[in-house]
Amino acid sequence: MSTVCAVSTPQGAGGISVIRISGGDAIAVAERIFKPFGNKQVSEMAGHTCVYGKVVSDGETIDDALLTVFRAPKSYTGEDTAEISCHGGIYVTKAVLRACLKNGAQPALAGEFTKRAFLNGKLSLTQAESVIETINAGGRQSLKSANLTREGRLFRQIKSVSDELVTLLSQLAAWNDYPDEDIPAVEQSALENTLDKAVSTLKDIITNYDRGRIFRNGIDTAIVGKPNVGKSTLMNMLLGYERSIVTDIAGTTRDIVEESAVVGGVTLRQSDTAGIHETGDTVESIGVGKAREKLSQADLTLAVFDSSQALTQEDKELLDLLPREKTVIILNKTDLSPALKECDFSGFSYVVSISAKNDEGLPEIENALSEIFRLGSFDDGGVIFANERQKLCADNSLSYLSEARQALAFGETLDAVTIMIDKGTDYLLELSGEKVTEAVVDKVFESFCVGK
Ligand code: GDP
Repeated sequence: MSTVCAVSTPQGAGGISVIRISGGDAIAVAERIFKPFGNKQVSEMAGHTCVYGKVVSDGETIDDALLTVFRAPKSYTGEDTAEISCHGGIYVTKAVLRACLKNGAQPALAGEFTKRAFLNGKLSLTQAESVIETINAGGRQSLKSANLTREGRLFRQIKSVSDELVTLLSQLAAWNDYPDEDIPAVEQSALENTLDKAVSTLKDIITNYDRGRIFRNGIDTAIVGKPNVGKSTLMNMLLGYERSIVTDIAGTTRDIVEESAVVGGVTLRQSDTAGIHETGDTVESIGVGKAREKLSQADLTLAVFDSSQALTQEDKELLDLLPREKTVIILNKTDLSPALKECDFSGFSYVVSISAKNDEGLPEIENALSEIFRLGSFDDGGVIFANERQKLCADNSLSYLSEARQALAFGETLDAVTIMIDKGTDYLLELSGEKVTEAVVDKVFESFCVGK
């Protein structure tokens, strides 16, 4: 494979930039442009060592830098790798990259380092995908989920299912191909057990996927309530700093609140519920049906009430619109004398008293979120898919395996059942990356950035 190079740190000026070179000639390329200040030559460096020196191209010094050398197979890609950490200026970084290109390295494609790691067996396909998850993680939970996948938990779980199916398939094939030999028939009950186990494991993982989506993409959140109850102040509290203009003249709050806030490790994204969180009038103008539909599309509704004021007709209409199982009633302004109590909202499971202005009540909101989205049980180790590709493979596999199980129950021939098990298994092998086409692999790595 050719030797490739790319800038692995983000574009733009910063403290340091890292230029990574990987491939059979990586050390030779580095030696041509990197002159250590000590006596040791680059080619003499052991793996996992680092040296201080200067980057030189066409006899001109570009920068002082550090060079780290990794020797195959003990590197990220599994190949010889050299990483130059230079000053993080845009020009100087490009100059170092150009020097690498001039001295024998090719430009790396998007995700090429991680792709090589996969091709060299350093990572499974699902682990490689978790690398993107880690880079894109927007909160504690999504990072945790990415780390679980990178540890290989999803891979192991899928593999344990596919291993059993492969064993089963080989028994079925042997029995089918050599009818004259004395090969014991596969017991119907063993067949049923293996299929049942596979189906139930897949179902569990697929059910978890929605939870995973919440960790990765955040919770689509509608903040509703009539004017002046403290919605913007609440959003500011969630954000942790002043972001919107908060006024005490009813109806004058302008909607320039930040789009997302991280609460209890998950990201709350402001939902497109324009109209509903303005005034009751607008609920009327867009229609109750439409308002209800919009609220039902959100993953979560925070319905804010001013606890110092009795419920108005407008509040009651809003209450009727709220999807109960995913609404948190927020009684704001508890610092004032109360006119509303939590027990006034008996139909709702999550009622929280806060004073947004005094920054009180955040832990209670976090607790409610944790219960609604079962955030706490995440630690119990449910594995989740990192992306739609994995989910689709699992869906397809599940549908073939369920079909096989049904066919078995209806007394279909073993031949027909075997074909379905075969297809179901193939999808699992595609999920784990053990049996994927080049096109699938290319597609996976296309979504990476250059330098990763
Ligand atoms: P919105 O129209 O629902 O977005 O309400 P705002 O966030 O603009 O708040 C309206 C007014 O209520 C402002 O004067 C806030 O300072 C005030 N307010 C918000 N939260 C509290 C609170 O917890 N206690 C008190 N006393 N006032 C609050």
